[in-house]
Amino acid sequence: MSHGHWTDVARAVGLLAPDGAVSSTIFAEMSALATRTGAVNLGQGFPDVDGPAHLKAAAIAAIERGDNQYPPGAGIPALLDAVATHQRRCYGLEVDPATEVLVTAGATEALAATILALAGPGDEVVTLEPFYDSYTAAIALSGATHRTIPLRPTPEGFRLEAADVEAAFSPRTRLALVNSPHNPTGTVLTADELSLIARAAIAHDAVVVTDEVYEHLTYDAQHVPMATLPGMAERTVTISSAGKTFSFTGWKVGWLHGPAELVTAVRTVKQFLTYVASGPFQHAVAVGLADEDGRTGEYVTGLARSLQERRDLLCGALTEAGFAPVVPRGTYFVVADGAGLGYEDAVDLCRDLPKRAGVVAIPVTAFCTPGGEVARQLRAYVRFTYVKHEATLEQAARGLARLGGQGRLGG
Ligand SMILES: *Cc1c(COP(=O)(O)O)cnc(C)c1O
Repeated sequence: MSHGHWTDVARAVGLLAPDGAVSSTIFAEMSALATRTGAVNLGQGFPDVDGPAHLKAAAIAAIERGDNQYPPGAGIPALLDAVATHQRRCYGLEVDPATEVLVTAGATEALAATILALAGPGDEVVTLEPFYDSYTAAIALSGATHRTIPLRPTPEGFRLEAADVEAAFSPRTRLALVNSPHNPTGTVLTADELSLIARAAIAHDAVVVTDEVYEHLTYDAQHVPMATLPGMAERTVTISSAGKTFSFTGWKVGWLHGPAELVTAVRTVKQFLTYVASGPFQHAVAVGLADEDGRTGEYVTGLARSLQERRDLLCGALTEAGFAPVVPRGTYFVVADGAGLGYEDAVDLCRDLPKRAGVVAIPVTAFCTPGGEVARQLRAYVRFTYVKHEATLEQAARGLARLGGQGRLGG
């Protein structure tokens, strides 16, 4: 089994041992641990409540109506229009639904198709680090080299520095992939930080690809799309999806928009990955994004408000337990330093947490280049999700309270 790109992918994400054995991901290990111990699973980030009933009804109506065959390759017209409407209403961006929008099987396919279409061997792709795990895999599949800009913990949250941005770009940079609001850190990049990346991209004639799947899940911070910055709409592919915004992660409806020439390039690859996906759900997401009666907007505002309360609950519990949480401004994740609990390596801490606190979480090194500088700096950091019922978070808080004042078990 040593042929094919799968080994490049496995190596890039740190799953290939020197003897060729493939290990499972820390996500799989921690989820299995949660199942085995009955601990509260704050590792995997998906909601435990469905999204709005009127969107479910729209999906059911589409199925009943007979919208069950292949939808058009670019996406159904109503959804293409709704993406354009949403971008104009929320950000003042003018997008041509006929040539500048593409519907995908979630943001994951949009990211993979964009990277495969626009980068290849000899090219470099820049991302923030820590990074969402599918980025490394898609970059490895493309044959390009992955370069990163570290996000560093500061009293003002995880921030990036101008010198790090400059150092990450080179004459070989083809793409800069920017995720804000950022998973795993919960950082919402400021317009100034985005400008640093925009300037570097323009200087190196690179295309910027954005992952904005948490665009509506922000608290005391404003999400700024890269495409709204001067000179950036013409070189930016903007990616988002319905999963996080509408709490329907299983529907897998994503989209991207950008200059027609780039969208054509991505569609050329995308049509041979899934061809099309999620037909009936595209109709429901169109209703949500167009939001003609304001009901979806109300739902999303309420979701963000409730997530902010749940963030505060979990951050308070983590602080009392001896963690140092870096308070997130967006997403539904919080990253916390576990060094105060006597652990140098968050992998050990995460393996002990189910027994000691009845909670499962993920070490932040799972989102870093194995053995790299960022992995070293964030070695004791743990990611928790708070997109769970308040009662579930309260149960987690009671468990975490058992850690307060205890040293590490066994010294
Ligand atoms: C969840 C997530 C995705 C994947 O979105 P899908 O629409 O489910 O494919 C992409 N990027 C980030 C940062 C995410 O957290």
